Amino acid sequence: MLNKLVFVINCGSSSLKFSVINPLKKEILFFGLAEHFHNKNSYIKWNINNNKQKIKFNSKTNHKIVLNYLVEKILKKNLFLYKNIIAVGHRIVHGGEKFTNSVIINKKVIKAIEEASVFAPLHNPIQLIGIKEIIKILPKLKNKQVAVFDTAFHQTIPETSYLYALPIKFYKKYKIRRYGAHGTSHKYVSTIAAKMLNIPFNIFNCISCHLGNGSSVTVINKGKSFDTSMGLTPLEGLVMGTRCGNIDPAIIFYMNKQLNIKIDEIYKILTEKSGMLGLTNITSDFRYIEDNYLKNVEIKKATKIFVHYLAKYIASYSILIKNKIHAIIFTGGIGENSILIREKTIKKLKILNFFLDKKLNNEIIHGKSGLISTIDSIPILVIPTNEELMIAHDTFKIINNQSNL
Ligand code: ADP
Repeated sequence: MLNKLVFVINCGSSSLKFSVINPLKKEILFFGLAEHFHNKNSYIKWNINNNKQKIKFNSKTNHKIVLNYLVEKILKKNLFLYKNIIAVGHRIVHGGEKFTNSVIINKKVIKAIEEASVFAPLHNPIQLIGIKEIIKILPKLKNKQVAVFDTAFHQTIPETSYLYALPIKFYKKYKIRRYGAHGTSHKYVSTIAAKMLNIPFNIFNCISCHLGNGSSVTVINKGKSFDTSMGLTPLEGLVMGTRCGNIDPAIIFYMNKQLNIKIDEIYKILTEKSGMLGLTNITSDFRYIEDNYLKNVEIKKATKIFVHYLAKYIASYSILIKNKIHAIIFTGGIGENSILIREKTIKKLKILNFFLDKKLNNEIIHGKSGLISTIDSIPILVIPTNEELMIAHDTFKIINNQSNL
């Protein structure tokens, strides 16, 4: 049964996450991370069979070097992995409007990923490097690569949710619209939630909150994404670690014209210096925020703002559900672990019949999944996300359908 492994690759702007997964057994046999590329602090760390290793790299490290290292120095030395990999699944941040599902990578798909690079300039080009490098270093898997798009799950959202109120040519000609992100995660946790509640996914309605360094909320109607808080790019929506989320767009012109800040610098402020980091002037790390909530006034204030935005999204999305809301789901590093954020948010949602069980809320952390609501509440679930498993699952399914043709 081993020869059904999927090599999952997630190329970030200056990092690479990887794993080898048996999707049928939901088993992760090898996983790790390389980060701080083009920097002297770069390293790669991995885990095989609970054996952890870490190696320092140098300032020349990039995605190509790491992929070569993974194949030559790790996979080929662990033949039980190498020999049994039948496909490679790539996380791709932006699929534009072309992809509603995961697909086998071919020349056309590569071209479409290139075209969507305008919307994800830090990610798509690098993810293409990953795809092209695999063709070189694992030629036997050249036609067994699958692209799993962060945007695909959100391609079902209706016009009313995806169009911005701009002159319509900006959509028609330039494709400026809401695309959303975290689609793989929202799809994964909502599928698991439907199973936990024993409701067929095609009639399942929920609000999924993926709260990590980047955060987004998605409303899912009958198993389909219906609206989501991230927009053309992952800058829109909730207050995030270092991203501002929703602001009046006129602030940008004010900063530029009145404060004389260059446009590139404004972009940096909004993406890297805002959010919880900007508000607290201390940190974007919710572990620190949770520990210091009662001790530091600025942290308390910033947390209240974070919760205010989150509760507002959940409340407004609940009216988009046509029938009964089956659940709210919390996931991502904060959603899975922050007792404080879950408690403060749910407290604001009493009017919508969401009630927290404090004991369960304290217990369901650190990778556990389960209910954190009282018996008379609409179910509130914590479900650890597993985008890698979802990518492996999609890849396996698609490759097998292909070989069955
Ligand atoms: P990314 O979006 O980069 O994938 P994650 O989903 O890993 O991020 O989430 C990172 C966030 O989760 C950080 O703000 C981190 O502080 C927070 N987090 C992780 N563990 C805990 C914890 N035990 N308690 C509170 N927050 C946590």
